[in-house]
Amino acid sequence: MSEIKDFKVLKKINLTLPHDINGIIVCPNERCVSHYCVSKFKSDINRKNQILVKCHYCEKQFMLNAK
Ligand SMILES: [Zn+2]
Repeated sequence: MSEIKDFKVLKKINLTLPHDINGIIVCPNERCVSHYCVSKFKSDINRKNQILVKCHYCEKQFMLNAK
């Protein structure tokens, strides 16, 4: 599987973020196919230091509460 490899690559790019959020959170889009398999998300930080998470499957973007 490519998940481990992806995680290592992303970790090098940005060490401050849990860049790869697979299988931990659930997509807010209830029709998203991620509900039937392992969810995959990409995280990003916006200008307000908020963590934005984007679903790999349906590309829905939402905010993640974190300190
Ligand atoms: Zn989704």
